[in-house]
Amino acid sequence: MYFVEVILPLALAKTFTYSVSEAEYHYIQKGMRIAVPFGKSKIYTALAIDLHQNKPALYEAKEIHQILDEMPVVTENQIKHWQWIASYYMCAIGDVYRGAMPSALLLENETLISQKSDAFIDESQLTDDEFLIFQALQQQSSLKVQDVVGILNKKSVFPIIQKLIDKNVLVLQDEVQEVYKPKLVRYIRLSEQYKSDSGLSELLEVLKNANKQKEVVLTYFQLSAASNKKAISVKELVEASQSTSAQVKALIDKQVFEEYLLQEDRVKFTGEINDTLLQLSEAQQKAFDEIKNGFIEKEVCLLHGVTSSGKTEIYIKLIEDYLKTGKQILFLLPEIALTTQLVSRLQAYFGNKVAVFHSKYNNNERVEVWNQVLQNSEKAQVVIGARSALFLPFSNLGFVIVDEEHEQTFKQQDPAPRYHARDAAIVLAGFFNAKVLLGSATPSIESYYNAQNGKYGLIELKTRYGNVRLPEIELVDLKDKYFRKRMTGHFSDVLIEAISEALSLGEQVILFQNRRGYSPLLECMTCGHVPQCQQCDVSLTYHKHRNELRCHYCGYSIAKPTRCHSCSGIDLSTKGFGTEQIQQELVQLFPEKKIGRMDQDTTRGKFGFEKIIDSFKNREIDIMVGTQMLAKGLDFDNVSLVGIMNADNMLYHPDFRAFERSFQTMIQVAGRAGRAEKQGKVVIQTYNPHHNTIQQVTNNDYAGMYKEQLYDRQIYKYPPYFRIIKLSLKHRDFEKLKEGSMWLYQVLSQHLGIPVLGPEEPPVNRIRNEYIRTIMIKNPHNVSIMGTKKTIQKILNSFDSVAQYRMIKVVLNVDFY
Ligand code: ADP
Ligand code: ZN
Repeated sequence: MYFVEVILPLALAKTFTYSVSEAEYHYIQKGMRIAVPFGKSKIYTALAIDLHQNKPALYEAKEIHQILDEMPVVTENQIKHWQWIASYYMCAIGDVYRGAMPSALLLENETLISQKSDAFIDESQLTDDEFLIFQALQQQSSLKVQDVVGILNKKSVFPIIQKLIDKNVLVLQDEVQEVYKPKLVRYIRLSEQYKSDSGLSELLEVLKNANKQKEVVLTYFQLSAASNKKAISVKELVEASQSTSAQVKALIDKQVFEEYLLQEDRVKFTGEINDTLLQLSEAQQKAFDEIKNGFIEKEVCLLHGVTSSGKTEIYIKLIEDYLKTGKQILFLLPEIALTTQLVSRLQAYFGNKVAVFHSKYNNNERVEVWNQVLQNSEKAQVVIGARSALFLPFSNLGFVIVDEEHEQTFKQQDPAPRYHARDAAIVLAGFFNAKVLLGSATPSIESYYNAQNGKYGLIELKTRYGNVRLPEIELVDLKDKYFRKRMTGHFSDVLIEAISEALSLGEQVILFQNRRGYSPLLECMTCGHVPQCQQCDVSLTYHKHRNELRCHYCGYSIAKPTRCHSCSGIDLSTKGFGTEQIQQELVQLFPEKKIGRMDQDTTRGKFGFEKIIDSFKNREIDIMVGTQMLAKGLDFDNVSLVGIMNADNMLYHPDFRAFERSFQTMIQVAGRAGRAEKQGKVVIQTYNPHHNTIQQVTNNDYAGMYKEQLYDRQIYKYPPYFRIIKLSLKHRDFEKLKEGSMWLYQVLSQHLGIPVLGPEEPPVNRIRNEYIRTIMIKNPHNVSIMGTKKTIQKILNSFDSVAQYRMIKVVLNVDFY
């Protein structure tokens, strides 16, 4: 008797045993996918992780359906890593498997497929079976995988569908299909024949009788001398020479100039992409050397480099170094920072050795990268991606970079696995003896603590590239401004003046406001009633643009009422303020200027974010209003002013990381100002100008922030001194939940002997009609976390066996962020 042990892509902690023939037993390798029946009628794509001859004791092993691969598509190191994630983050191995694989590699019989809309399909290239599926999709827009079984009249259809996905004929149906063409800008350069000195006199001869054109050419020389090899756009030349684009075009026709098009964000570096020689500044070189030295002794180094210190360039040099070793390199970034801007910067250096892995990419693209990494292909020697790139099938990993390591989006919240990509990356690197570089202008307290303790190497880079000074920060006391009537809407006189000045110099402005939407609440002025979401315990948010009230938790929305639901009063007022309202006020204040907005509402879709960034970079927008998104490592060279509309709503979050996060966000947002030659300016409006955190931001005092927070963390028992495990219990029945969470809390505190807090009602205590209670467990560093988790698991098993609590959902979040 022969068996294969598999992981199913379901929230199941166990692996399952299926029976196979002797031939299959010898054919199957660990890491191959196998279609297996499960439950009454389902077929799933499972993953083989072991082969053996031990009959399962508790159930009759079913036969597998079909072997899907000829070679493993998952490596043994990956399986080991996934098992570590499941155990450390207390989730099912099936959850990790499901979260790790592109869904096109996880077909089920319920999966919906449809024809790729924009693809050209050469029918002669399709096999008979493939053609039948293709034809069926001409009749109906989508099919279930199990329908294909009927169409082809055979059981084994997964590989055929997979082939069609690989051939770009099919896509999984739930995918957005979007294409985005980055904006191209017209540039010119001198034709090759005139580049030498003798060429120049020849050129002047050619233009002897065309004075205006000669002038244009001379202006071109001035510009290129002044900008030192930077590309020169047609627009720039027309402006500087006070000519017209027709005159420039005449020169192109005469073959004096050549025209070329570049994507806006590639330009800054090169103009001509290939011949860039990146020279590190002295400070960068010193940091680079210290990192290399650090790696002699340490597995992990932390690069603490102020905003715009040129960390990316140091990464590039390090990548260049590691490329020579032939190893694979993983560059992790927060999702939102993974823009075309950065990707093209890297592609400019490493050409087609760079592959990008992004959750907004479609399945076909993701499967392609998966396969390239699996084959250790040159085309994916450098993988840049958001946190899920961590799950790719590396076999030869040599170096990992985690940029913006403090970003909370590295921690996955929902669904499981609730892993932290930075920490999971360090573990992954350990399997390969690969080195890890963490980078940030505002490191997380945890990482900085590890560096201070000598666990990580620490490299400090305190100067900005080109010795541009850090922005000057001016605090505006809102209380005083309101009192003295110096406010127009939400703008102080100081901020308005600073904006006017920047704009008059042709510079751009960024305004940061922490909330999206127009105004969070609609309040009845007669009875005080505020409309609430029907399914969640939150007030609805007013969105002026759509004239509706929305729930930010579940998406529920209603048209803006004209009368109060409670007292039918008609005096309804909007309270608070968000990005949309700031934008409206700006239109009043600066009617001539173009105002953009960047928040979750304006950046939907695969390239929504890129589009806005591009138009800001192309200077089509003068003032950009935005949320946190603005803080994610963007590089704009013409922004001289950053305004923080209200610092206080960040500070007063009920969260032990609130001050750390406020500091990070403000420093990062401020860092967008004055990245090119000129020192930038930041105006922070606040009711608490003397608050420690605000003072630390003003003085760019990371050390002060760190010291203060560390002290608090110790006193109040938080990371890095304690590890936090948070349990969220959810149920529709309020009383049952209350009782169940009390039971669980009491048993946990009796058995754990470490601080257990709760059960608490979170600030939002009902979402989608489920009530929520939380319990927080704090594990000190001298107590084994593995032991604690074992005990918790045991107690959860007993909890589950209490009949009246069985229906209560328990969500575990280890290292809760
Ligand atoms: P950080 O990521 O540290 O905020 P960046 O890597 O974005 O900083 O660098 C800031 C700016 O300085 C970018 O516009 C970048 O092009 C420029 N820069 C940094 N280092 C160099 C270098 N060695 N040569 C040329 N330009 C550089
Ligand atoms: Zn809701």
